[in-house]
Amino acid sequence: MQLDLDVTGRAVLVLGTARGTRLAVARLVRGGARVTLVATDAGAPPGPDPSAPFRVVRAPDADDSSRLLRLLGPAWLVVSVDPPRALRERVEQLAARLRVLTTTQEPAAALGRVTLVGGGPGPTGLLTLEGAQALAAADVVFHDRLAPTDDLPDLAPSAELVDVGKTPYHHPVDQRSIEELLVDRARRGQSVVRLKGGDPFVFGRGGEEVLACLAAGVPVRVVPGVSSAVAVPASAGIPVTHRGLSHAFTVISGHQRPTEDELDALARLGGTVVVLMGVVNLEQIARGLVRAGLDPATPAAVVERGWSDSQRSTFSSLATLADDARRLQVASPAVVVIGDVVRLAADRADASLVLDGLPAWTAP
Ligand code: SAH
Repeated sequence: MQLDLDVTGRAVLVLGTARGTRLAVARLVRGGARVTLVATDAGAPPGPDPSAPFRVVRAPDADDSSRLLRLLGPAWLVVSVDPPRALRERVEQLAARLRVLTTTQEPAAALGRVTLVGGGPGPTGLLTLEGAQALAAADVVFHDRLAPTDDLPDLAPSAELVDVGKTPYHHPVDQRSIEELLVDRARRGQSVVRLKGGDPFVFGRGGEEVLACLAAGVPVRVVPGVSSAVAVPASAGIPVTHRGLSHAFTVISGHQRPTEDELDALARLGGTVVVLMGVVNLEQIARGLVRAGLDPATPAAVVERGWSDSQRSTFSSLATLADDARRLQVASPAVVVIGDVVRLAADRADASLVLDGLPAWTAP
């Protein structure tokens, strides 16, 4: 069973190595506790904020009861992380006698690493459990504009949160600098999370970040995420495949205009075309697909700000989509879906409702 305790203003002892306790200390300090690290080694804490307000004392020997009692006397809670067993047992005995609460916490990772986490399309519920675990164990999180950030302070309670958000065509922190930041922090022994919207490997430059870590000799992991390519159409009720209507879907980036060859291939393949980053070049893409042979009456939709309160779905046809989008001032982030599957949602577009935070539909 897990209990949440309010530690504001409480005196808390944390027992263990400076490295192993760093996440527990950071979290308690952030929670407003008066923290004393009872350090079983002389290492300097590599935590996010070395100037954080907490006291460090050298741990007494396990048989030094008088010093232990002096430490425990004013304490409200003792958190054992990775102290020697004899010391932990003695502290627990004395704490029980003094009615001081005790608990244990897993030590923070010893080896620096980078974890690329796919954050999904927005709601925290669509982040994976593995992704949430990586956040919970992070010293620092570098997050993007489209990454889910609303609940980050709770999901990553020990971490320094750094916004390296990119808006289209405007990169406040350029890609190389982000890679350097990841590598630098991991080399300092920190657990680094790079949190991205959707899936890190779908137009997310995650591959480049993995290569940069490998080139620097930094261990790197990837936690896949729910990609907007599938999830944003779903939020509007559009299945990207549907038996009898579409047995393929192609995800393209609209960031650069597709070539004539690419447009021809898309038109020949059939199935559903999903365009990410497609707002700017929407007209060229739609016209190009018609030129390449797709029926101008093919159903098409653009879904803006999927999974947010201000989500808007515009249903149209390939011939009219660009005009509709311009008239309605469709803006990024948006996912464009072209293909017969769009009709499945357009037919019941007015009947959407939300049940427990997820879009739901009833018969019109
Ligand atoms: N890695 C991401 C995609 C990054 S490219 C993923 O797998 O989802 C950024 C593009 O994704 C945006 O321009 C937009 O086309 C799309 N996108 C991401 N989140 C979105 C959302 N909540 N609503 C609509 N489009 C979104």
